[in-house]
Amino acid sequence: MKNKTKFDSIAGFYTSLAAIILGNGIFMIYRWFEVFTLFDRQLSTVDHIQQDLTKGFAGVIAIILVNAVLIVAVNAHTLKAKRAAEISAFLFSLFLNILFWQAWQGDLQAIAFKLVISVTFALLDGFFAYLFIEKWTERRALIEGEEELQDTRKILTELATKKHKAQQDLEQLKDEIGDMRLLVQDTTCMDCGREFQSTEARNKHWHDEHARQMIGS
Ligand SMILES: [Zn+2]
Repeated sequence: MKNKTKFDSIAGFYTSLAAIILGNGIFMIYRWFEVFTLFDRQLSTVDHIQQDLTKGFAGVIAIILVNAVLIVAVNAHTLKAKRAAEISAFLFSLFLNILFWQAWQGDLQAIAFKLVISVTFALLDGFFAYLFIEKWTERRALIEGEEELQDTRKILTELATKKHKAQQDLEQLKDEIGDMRLLVQDTTCMDCGREFQSTEARNKHWHDEHARQMIGS
């Protein structure tokens, strides 16, 4: 395998889940500023809200909203109304940008620019969510594959241990069979083949039956 260059490392980072999360995180700061500005603008027009608190309220609302939209966007694929959630997120982002940039104000060039910017940011929002889901699914499959491989390795190790144990048992059994054979040979009369309870009994028999005959003959 060829050595990895620093360009491979850079490319690896830009196509990683970390890059998507980081990019999306930075984008969320922009989104937070948008929502904060819009709410701050609107809250200052509400009479019963203390005006020195509007910035605080707007900041908290922006955190809640940005976080909620992010969670919905990256989990939209699990919903039955997946397409509806994706379109809603896109439209929300689009309207937010149009309001933030006040895209209807200015000459034709300014309006065109603000609209293009608004659509681009709204699309980027959607693509970030899509990229995140794709990358995360890919990574999860990789993690699950590695876990399965580890499980298989564990099973193989267990089987190898069992095989080793079985071989040891077999060797022990062979030894025991060998001992029993010796024992059988010890208690069997070598001349007539009769078997006895003990070596002593066999010896006595041999002495009584065969040795005397040998002496006698
Ligand atoms: Zn005998």
